Amino acid sequence: MAQATVNRPQEEDTKSFRLLSGHTIPAVGFGTWRSGAEATNSVFTAIVEAGYRHVDTAPEYGIEEEVGHALQASMRAGVERKDLFVTSKPWCSDLSPDRVRTALKNSLEMLQLDYLDLYLIHWPFHLKQGASKPPKPGDVLEFDMEGVWREMEKLVKDNLVKDIGICNFTINKLQKLLRFAQTMPSVCQAYSPLGSSEGGRDMIHDQTVEIVAKKLNKSPGQVLVKWGLQRGTSVIPKSSHPERIKENIKVFGWQIPEQDFIALSTILEQKRVLDGADLFVSKSCGPFKSVADLWDDED
Ligand code: NDP
Repeated sequence: MAQATVNRPQEEDTKSFRLLSGHTIPAVGFGTWRSGAEATNSVFTAIVEAGYRHVDTAPEYGIEEEVGHALQASMRAGVERKDLFVTSKPWCSDLSPDRVRTALKNSLEMLQLDYLDLYLIHWPFHLKQGASKPPKPGDVLEFDMEGVWREMEKLVKDNLVKDIGICNFTINKLQKLLRFAQTMPSVCQAYSPLGSSEGGRDMIHDQTVEIVAKKLNKSPGQVLVKWGLQRGTSVIPKSSHPERIKENIKVFGWQIPEQDFIALSTILEQKRVLDGADLFVSKSCGPFKSVADLWDDED
């Protein structure tokens, strides 16, 4: 993802970022994790009423079919496919070279699309089909990163996806990928811009965020989205409430002043809201016995 320095705000009011491939990604996209039964309505509202053009989803969210219905309805309402940017991600049980293409085909079928704009490695770990949470012995398999990336590169060559990228990679894992990648990752996804929901960190009610929001006469959600944009990253807030969906994208035509931007950037006790422990860590049998193991001791 386009990335500027963390401590100085971007000056221009960017509506999209240019990726390494030359394609553009909308600055504000729509997240769909935990959208549940509301997914179709929410995505339709986001695209047709609020003006989002990027939808981020994944088979693991269990709603690709619902997202597909919303995309189709949006196109019937006059939004063109070429103006939409749709992201999905193969789940860890499909992270072997022989399964990647089938996983993409399944997502395309569910989403009723013939290509994706972006396909991201969801987590850099390979799980057995039906793996438990936390994993049982044998649930975490060896991850053939190079083999999987080669298959993703072929999807680009075959025009089934426009860009490929990563999520939840450490610098160590990214450096490994860059040693063999022929097609560079276009995006390293930064997510949960509002602090996520259950199990996350409620940034909406953070004192600094509330103070800045009041001062600027904006909502805490808008301040958090805008902070992400001014930091130089595209942002994908999720909501199932129409009024919040519309509110969260009203972040253009105003700026967070530098001193407030710095105050937001230096909020104390920063931490990763999703550490993957429930998915990949098994204290007793490994291979990852701690969160530090997953993140290559980089925190
Ligand atoms: P967000 O940071 O987007 O926060 C979502 C939460 O904030 C929900 O509880 C939502 O509630 C609430 N909310 C939304 N807008 C407002 C508002 N204006 N005021 C108050 N509360 C608000 O969390 P996510 O974890 O969903 O992250 C965003 C997206 O990133 C995901 O949906 C997913 O697409 C992606 N993602 C990717 C991951 C990966 O591994 N690659 C991991 C996690 C997320 P309500 O819906 O009730 O409004």
